[in-house]
Amino acid sequence: MKRLTVLTGDRPTGRMHLGHYFGSLKNRFALQRDYRCFFMVADYQALTTHGDRTEEIERNVREMVLDYLSAGFDPEQGVCFLQSQVPQLAELTTIFSNLVTLPRLLRNPTIKEEMREMGLSARATYGFVGYPVSQAADILLFRPALVPVGPEQGPHIELAQEVAARFNRLYGPVFPTPEAMVGELLVGTDGRRKMGKSYRNAIFLSDAPATVQEKVQGMVTDPARPRRSDPGHPEVCPVYACHRALGPDAETAVAGPCRRAEVGCADCKANLSVKLNAFLEPLRERRSHYEGQRGLIRDILNLGGCEARIEGGKTLEEVKEVMGLGYRGLLG
Ligand code: SF4
Repeated sequence: MKRLTVLTGDRPTGRMHLGHYFGSLKNRFALQRDYRCFFMVADYQALTTHGDRTEEIERNVREMVLDYLSAGFDPEQGVCFLQSQVPQLAELTTIFSNLVTLPRLLRNPTIKEEMREMGLSARATYGFVGYPVSQAADILLFRPALVPVGPEQGPHIELAQEVAARFNRLYGPVFPTPEAMVGELLVGTDGRRKMGKSYRNAIFLSDAPATVQEKVQGMVTDPARPRRSDPGHPEVCPVYACHRALGPDAETAVAGPCRRAEVGCADCKANLSVKLNAFLEPLRERRSHYEGQRGLIRDILNLGGCEARIEGGKTLEEVKEVMGLGYRGLLG
């Protein structure tokens, strides 16, 4: 039986953190055995925010592939490739850009939020506002059944679904409707926003044990619990959010004692440091195992690029055919 396809990816803008892991990496790598998985390193999309720092991208790509490997990517099972190595993605973006209106793009809540956070409203480039169209092409070129994403990516998947439906209606049935597989949203160590490298509130997958301990010690806790004898509200505490992400026993082992004021925040954090470091240790070991293999990342990306171009070529041929742009009579 033909395996269904999974497609997902990330912009290489820095090291990956626990928010990435629980938001998407955990889900996607669990699918490798049963699905045909494509993992894209979206280097062209990184230009939307790192166009003035392109010298950082190559290093970030290397770090990202190492993060993938440490978090469970198996190069024997999945395909990892660079967006810029698959020209069919740019062609499909051109085609899709005529299927989406500008007001529709500007209504996208994720784009609005990102523009507000980066203070971009007046300086937003065409590439930035249009990146969800490019992302729709990234997804649909591989005709996936499933797209594992973080919660903030929901609006982009909706757009990809709309584009697929519009294309199929206009030209012919080429694209299946991709379903989002939405992971957990993890709040950052400051307890104010989602975990994000630019917010300086992230615990990275490659952080050393002492760094993890230091970051956990500095985490914000329930502000309504200044004394150990005060009952806590774990639902507003980022320390509890991490405990919960790490295991199903958090409600009984952490939330209950916190609400009954049976545990102090210092002990709760010390316990989290131990749990987090135990969780991250196998990831660190895998990272250092792969880091020592010369040429491995080059081979993964070269092979992945080949496979992605073959897959993309098949889709694009079909796309052009149903659009009447195959030019068999004229050029054949
Ligand atoms: S005991 Fe733990 S969960 Fe409760 S407020 Fe303190 S750090 Fe947060």
